Amino acid sequence: MNVLYEHGTLAMLMAKNLAGTITLKDLLKHGSCGLGTFEGLDGEVMILDNQVYQADSTGQVHHITDMTTTLPFASVHFPKDKQPVSLTKVDFDLLNKDFVAQHQLQNVFAALRLHGTLSDVLIRIAPKQKRPYPSLLEVAQGQPTFPRQNISGTIFGYYAPEAFGSITAAGWHLHFLSDDHQYEGHLLSFAAAQLMGDYEVFDQLDQHFPVNNKEFRQSDVDLASLREGIAQSEGHQN
Ligand SMILES: [Zn+2]
Repeated sequence: MNVLYEHGTLAMLMAKNLAGTITLKDLLKHGSCGLGTFEGLDGEVMILDNQVYQADSTGQVHHITDMTTTLPFASVHFPKDKQPVSLTKVDFDLLNKDFVAQHQLQNVFAALRLHGTLSDVLIRIAPKQKRPYPSLLEVAQGQPTFPRQNISGTIFGYYAPEAFGSITAAGWHLHFLSDDHQYEGHLLSFAAAQLMGDYEVFDQLDQHFPVNNKEFRQSDVDLASLREGIAQSEGHQN
């Protein structure tokens, strides 16, 4: 049994519920690798081998050791059934089409971890919000982006089937962390001659909800704009 644990949903963030509802301490009980954001959509979080990194919207990367830090949304897992992959001429186009088709990911959740040198990369970092919170989409429309060339590091994240595109981002949701830990964020586009790593397919999704959060329990999700809003907020280019 390979389990992907998800706390909160993107539908929640679209409905302006940006309060942190799980601590890092509790989150790490469910996985040693993952993605997320801190309370108030404060930056982009990557968890690799139990180490937590967060980029803030100035582009600074922090190694987070305060386990009381809270997150409104995160996905984590314990690597268990890693399948090695070696890819050449890699970009989102290859991952979206060839990779998904070759590994038959279209109806499953999967994790992907790749390492190597990226000739081009563009990331975005969500800026921290204050109450009253805006929606995920409003934040996504004004977020800083940071380009780099020839930088080595790790691409890590998840694939979700189209059918689940209202609780999480459909397709790939990937973050990048440079080897020197100075550059990190939500991956918008990239290109690499060769990347090595592994992927893993999950046969179980463990969706956890912040049931003690009143705002979450009382909020209304605008279903008409939900999927489009998530795609615009969490999507990547090309
Ligand atoms: Zn992200």
